[in-house]
Amino acid sequence: MKAVNAYCSACDHDVRLVLTDEPLVDDPSPIHDCEVVCLELGEHCTGAFCPVGAVPPIVMAARLVRNGLQTEMQPIVKAHCPACDNSTDFVIVSRDYCICSECGSTATREAIERNETARTAQ
Ligand SMILES: [Zn+2]
Repeated sequence: MKAVNAYCSACDHDVRLVLTDEPLVDDPSPIHDCEVVCLELGEHCTGAFCPVGAVPPIVMAARLVRNGLQTEMQPIVKAHCPACDNSTDFVIVSRDYCICSECGSTATREAIERNETARTAQ
């Protein structure tokens, strides 16, 4: 992985990025050889589109979690994941969404909290 700084037009300042290098053997397209992951993704990234990665912020957040790069800006909650059926850490990535650190699936915080309440009530 390689760390770089780049200007983000959504945040209007320079942000720290990491370029992952995971060459996909079966993928002939060089643009998929690495992903851009923004380390400064946060509550201010409320737009539909993250300009540094050309993806929605939720996708950027999923990359952060998948690459083990989540920062202090993303709080973690313990919850049961309906996708991979593990009791695991969920990284809160926005007001409404969190991501499973095991399988990387996105869930709404409401669903996770409801799930947790139902489980602990048993
Ligand atoms: Zn999961």
